[in-house]
Formats: sequence, C-alpha cells, structure tokens
Amino acid sequence: MATPDGDAAHIVYLDYNATAPLRPEALEAMLPHLRGVGNASSPHVLGRYASAAVDAGRRGVAGLLGCSPGELIFTSGATEANNIALRAGLALGGGIVTTAVEHPTVLRTARILTTDAARSMHVLAVDRNGLLDHDELRCVLSVRQTSLVSVMAANNETGVLADLAEVAEICREFDVLLHADATQRVGRLPVDLAELDVDLLSLSAHKFGGPQGVGALFIRRGAPLPHRPLLHGGGQERGWRAGTLNVAGIVGAGAAASASARSLGTEVERVRVLRDRLESHLLGRIEGARLNGHPTLRLPSVTNLSFPGAAADAVLAAMPLVAASDGSACSSGALTPSHVLMAMGRSRAEAECSLRFSLGYATCGADIDQAITAIVDAVARVQQLTTDGDATGMKLSSSTTRQPLLATVVKGHRPHVG
Ligand code: PMP
Repeated sequence: MATPDGDAAHIVYLDYNATAPLRPEALEAMLPHLRGVGNASSPHVLGRYASAAVDAGRRGVAGLLGCSPGELIFTSGATEANNIALRAGLALGGGIVTTAVEHPTVLRTARILTTDAARSMHVLAVDRNGLLDHDELRCVLSVRQTSLVSVMAANNETGVLADLAEVAEICREFDVLLHADATQRVGRLPVDLAELDVDLLSLSAHKFGGPQGVGALFIRRGAPLPHRPLLHGGGQERGWRAGTLNVAGIVGAGAAASASARSLGTEVERVRVLRDRLESHLLGRIEGARLNGHPTLRLPSVTNLSFPGAAADAVLAAMPLVAASDGSACSSGALTPSHVLMAMGRSRAEAECSLRFSLGYATCGADIDQAITAIVDAVARVQQLTTDGDATGMKLSSSTTRQPLLATVVKGHRPHVG
C-alpha cells in the first residue's frame, strides 16, 4: 500500500482495525454522488435521485446484517451510534452494565452519562483470555436495576469475540435491552440480526471498506427505546439523527457492505490462514513472544502479541514499512497502557510491549512474508537497545532517517485509535 502522496515504498498495511482501505466498489459507487448535487430531502428530481441512492445504501448495509432497512439510522460513525444507544437506553430509568474491555466510546460515554444522571454503572471483568463471566452478568442483573447492557461483539485490540447469543438470552431473562458495539465484527464475520437477539447494534463503515465518517445504529423494530436523539433539527432518520444525509458516504457504506457480504464466504478463511501464518512465525521466531487474547474465540483477522523487552512504540518506529498498532493512547503527554490488556491481567510492561496486527480483504501472502521479516528484525533491534540500556529506542532513530517518525510517536497528544 502506498502513502496518500503516492510514495512508492510498499507499506504493508496491517491496521484494518483502525481503518480498512476503501473498497473499489465503494469508490465507484460514490463518485457520481461526490460530483453531482442533491439533498436527499429535496422534493425535486435531483433530491429524489439522492434519496433513492440513500435507500440503496441502506438496503446494502441491511443486507449485510440481515435486518430490515427501516431498522437502520445512519450516523457519522460508531462513536455517534454508541452515544445514541447509551443515551436512549439510560432514559429507560435504570443503570448501565458494560465490560472492562469496551472501546472508550462506550466506557467513557457510559461513565459520563451515568454520573450526570446519578445512575449506576457496572463494569464486568474479563478473564486472561478476554472472555466475560456470564454468571457475573446474571448476578449483577439480579441485584441492580438496569436499563441497558452494552457488550462489544469483537474487541478492537485483541479480536476476542463475545458470545452475544448467550448474553442476549440472559438479558431477555431479566427483561433488559442489549446493545452490541459490533464495529469490529461487521464485515469480518457474519452477523445475522434475524437470529441474534440484540436490540441495538453499532457499526462504522470504514472498518469494512466503506468511507470514514459514516456509521449506523440498528434499532430493532418494536424495541421499547425512548426517543432521545443526540442531534435535534430537521427530523432526518425518523428524528433520530438530524442533519443533511451524507449521500455519497451512505452510498459507499452500502456498496462496501454488499461487497463484504459477497466475499465473506471465502475471505474469512483466506484471511485466517494469513493471520495464522503471521502469528505462528512471530511466536516461533521471537523468544518469549505471547498471544494476547483467546486462541480461537477471536476474529480471524487479528493477532495481538507481546514481545518482552521491546516497547511497542519503538518497534513501530523501527519498522516504518509495516503499519500496525500499539494499544496505548496518549493524553496530557503521557502514554497510558491499553486498558484492554490491563483488564486481561497483563502487567503494564507486557501491555507496553504489545502490538496489534489486523489484516483484511486486500492483505496478501507477500504482505505477510514482508511483515514477518520486518517485525522479527525490528523486535530484535529494539530488544538489543533495551539490553544496552536504551529502553526508549531513541538511539535507534539517531543514526537513521527514522528520527521524525519516532519523535511523533514519543511526543504529543495521541487519541485512542481503534
Ligand atoms: N467501537 C469500536 C470497537 C471501535 O473499534 C471503534 C473505532 N476504532 C469505534 C467504536 C468508533 O468508531 P468511529 O471512530 O468510526 O466512530
């Protein structure tokens, strides 16, 4: 993959959980709507053309999820979808139950909303493999008045999958609404809302090859959800999300969803084989390397590995031709280790030495070969520097052109990526 400036260097892109490359089908479908004009709410012919395109986009996303198009509300992404779901769920009068490994769009939002409303928030623990204890969920629901349970379908850092069918059954037992943040699962593994009994589900199009800045919230027809939109205004999306619809974005989301639906049958296994090859080589060739996450109950496209003695940000800086991710976020100048890995019982040092590699529809075998060589080499160099007493990896940059890259890693505000 080249850089946006067309840099010829081949960058192996293993950061699909942060964002996936736009699918060619999505780009093709979007172009006429980027060039043309038309507000989907306008009554004239160009408005009707835009509105028909939005309908097609909605059918495309609904097709991938197995729901009815009328059960989807388009948003600016999963961040907004999660915020709407939690806000409306809380309006039912009880507290929120969620998990320690949720994305900050759920964890932080739930914390703020429940504090403001003086309601309870319970955070369920996970085990060393990242799995939930369903008995704890049952126990909490039996003692706390709860409006909404929010459980992510697949973890963004480890890929660990929740058993949503089982969680849904428990929620039914206690008559509590269930929201699933499925941002990382949609387009990577099948989701069938005709079978899966969740009330609300969030997604973001750019995770499955649609454009950035478009997402959706599924609200099951008949779910007793109070109408509490975040944005008020023109009444678009049945009053759930005011604002002129992002026609080209929605068209792209629909086209990417349809392309994902068509290819899922073969893609899942193809990507799993590549991921397993990457994982087994790294575990076999880097001494002490360990997997973070359940060995099998995981997205087929993700591996999160810790490499002892090799700080993740230094490893990333030492392999500029591999795009991967560490789990840390940076606020007020200090890097904080991944809350997901800490919740899974990893030490701070282990979390700081962990990298996430996430593959996707355009990853090929040559990418994996190039990545294995680069990662093994980068980890060895950083481990060597660490042994020599330069744990920050700064020495690594001084004699090479990597200095600016490393400087951006070490300094400045870095929000949570994905
Ligand atoms: N939930 C999860 C699990 C995510 O991985 C992300 C994106 N990284 C989000 C929510 C938010 O998505 P977006 O930034 O596209 O709104």
